[in-house]
Amino acid sequence: INRQPESINEIIGNVLSMVQQQFIKKRINLVSELDTATPLFPMDSRRMKQVLLNLIMNAGQAIGNTGNITIRSWSENAGLFIEVEDDGPGISKDIQDKIFDPFFSTKEPGEGSGLGLSVSYGIIHEHDGEIMVRSAPGQGTCFTVVLPAVQEYL
Ligand code: ADP
Ligand code: MG
Repeated sequence: INRQPESINEIIGNVLSMVQQQFIKKRINLVSELDTATPLFPMDSRRMKQVLLNLIMNAGQAIGNTGNITIRSWSENAGLFIEVEDDGPGISKDIQDKIFDPFFSTKEPGEGSGLGLSVSYGIIHEHDGEIMVRSAPGQGTCFTVVLPAVQEYL
């Protein structure tokens, strides 16, 4: 991995511009709550884009036709935080601990490889970070990525 000081908000903006057209067609509302005070942070921007695209595409697929996806960024002493939340159907408790496994998918063959979250997990751990999910069936899903503070940056 190739970590350079990057703006997380620029990376998020980049990914949002990739999905905007298809989400407008599907009537999915994209909300960004980006803290403009987030500092530059050492990241592999290509791999971080891959993670965020995975999370946002999953959210869009979960929502189906109409709903909301909220993307957040902020920084704390502990590190840099990124969230992707949707108001789709949620993930039942019994599969929440399987979704990061390679090839685990609830989608029809051809619609999902089941690799998105396992690849994302790998990328976040290569950044010494954590990726977590909170979800309740009927209430939506929120993925949180935490990249721990690097002394010289935060
Ligand atoms: P794929 O998208 O190819 O199925 P992923 O690794 O990206 O593989 O996701 C694994 C599974 O996790 C999905 O099949 C789905 O069951 C569940 N999942 C992931 N994101 C969401 C979400 N936002 N809402 C509901 N379920 C989700
Ligand atoms: Mg996926």
